[in-house]
Amino acid sequence: MTEVNLTLDEADALVMRVLRANGCDEANARAVTDTVMAAERDICHSHGIFRIPGYVASLRSGKVNGKSSPTVEKIAPGVLQVDGKGGFAPLALERGRQPLIDLAREQGIAALAIRDIYHFAALWVEVEPIAEQGLGAFAWTAATPMVAPAGGTKPLFGTNPMAFSWPRRGGGSMAFDMATAATARGEIMIMARDGKQAPPGAGIDADGNPTTDPNAILAGAQLPFGGYKGSAIAMMIELLVGALIGDKLSFEAGAADIKDGGPPPGGELMIAVDPNRFGDPEGWLDHGEKLFAAMTEQEGLRLPGDRRHKNRTKTPAAGIFLPRSLYDTVCGLEG
Ligand code: NDP
Repeated sequence: MTEVNLTLDEADALVMRVLRANGCDEANARAVTDTVMAAERDICHSHGIFRIPGYVASLRSGKVNGKSSPTVEKIAPGVLQVDGKGGFAPLALERGRQPLIDLAREQGIAALAIRDIYHFAALWVEVEPIAEQGLGAFAWTAATPMVAPAGGTKPLFGTNPMAFSWPRRGGGSMAFDMATAATARGEIMIMARDGKQAPPGAGIDADGNPTTDPNAILAGAQLPFGGYKGSAIAMMIELLVGALIGDKLSFEAGAADIKDGGPPPGGELMIAVDPNRFGDPEGWLDHGEKLFAAMTEQEGLRLPGDRRHKNRTKTPAAGIFLPRSLYDTVCGLEG
C-alpha cells in the first residue's frame, strides 16, 4: 500500500477545504477538522481522515446541516441541554464544554445532554480537555444497530463507546475510550479494506455463526466485549443517550437514518465531576497519582491514553501517513 506523507498543517488545510467546499460553514468545518486532526495527530486512523468521505456524504445528501448553530440551555440545576440543530457533533460539544465545566465547578457534578447531532468521532477528544482543566469527565454515545446483545444473533445495539478522563499532576490526563463492541466498527471496516482477518470473538455472520471474516461480520453482527457484561454496559448506554436524554436508541437511529455512509442521528451524554467538591479536596490528585504509580510499577503495563500521548509527540515532526487511495479520494471531494 503506497502512502502519502503530509504535515499536520497540510492535512488540516485539506480537510478544511473539503468540508467548506461541501457546505460546512467556517465554525462547523473548524470543529470537525479539529476533531479529525486530533485523531490523526494521535495516530487513531479509524476516526481521522478515513471518516471524511462519510462526513461529506452526509453533507451532500442533505442529511446533516453543515451550518448548524447549536444552543445550550439549562433545563435543571445540574443539567445542561445542547440542541445540536441537526449538525455534526463537534460544534455542539464545543459549545457545551465550558458551560459544563463551569456548572460542575459550581455544583460538584453536572451533566450535558446533547441532542439532535450526528456523531462519527472518538470520545477521548471530548473528555480529555475537561480533565486538562482539572475535572473528571465521562462520555457515552450510541450509534445504529451493529452489535447483537449477548445471547442474541441480530444487531440491536450500536458499538456504543464510553470514555472517562482523569486529571494528572502537571496538567495532563489519563483517558480511556472504548467501544462496547469487542472491536470498533471503524477497525472492522479498515480490516475489510486491507484484506485482514478480524480477531476471534469480534462478530458473527448473517446466520449467527462465529467468523473472523470482516466482510461477513459487517453483513452479520458484531459482538459486545466481555459477553453479557459488555452487553449490559451497551444496554446502559442505550438508556442514557436514548431514554434519559430524549434522543434515539440505536435501532431507532437505524430506522431513521438514510444510510448515506455518514454518521447516524442520535445524542450523547457527558458528566463532569469536580474532585475539589467531593470528599478529599486536598488529597485527590496525589491519591490518583498513587494508583497510577502502583500500576505502572508493573513491568509491561501502560496506562490508557499513553499510546496516543506518545504518538502526539512524534507527528508534529514526522507528519501523518495516509494510504494513497484515501488521499486521492479526499482530494477528489474538494471539487
Ligand atoms: P481500543 O480497544 O483500541 O482501546 C480502548 C482503550 O483501551 C483506549 O483508551 C486505549 O488507550 C486503551 N488500551 C488499549 N490497549 C491498552 C493496553 N495495552 N494497556 C492499557 N490501555 C490500553 O478502542 P476501541 O477499538 O474500543 O475504540 C476505538 C475508538 O472508536 C474509540 O475512540 C471510540 O470512541 C470510537 N468509537 C466511536 C463510535 C461513535 O459512534 N462515535 C462508536 C464506537 C467506537 P490508547 O488509545 O492509548 O491505546
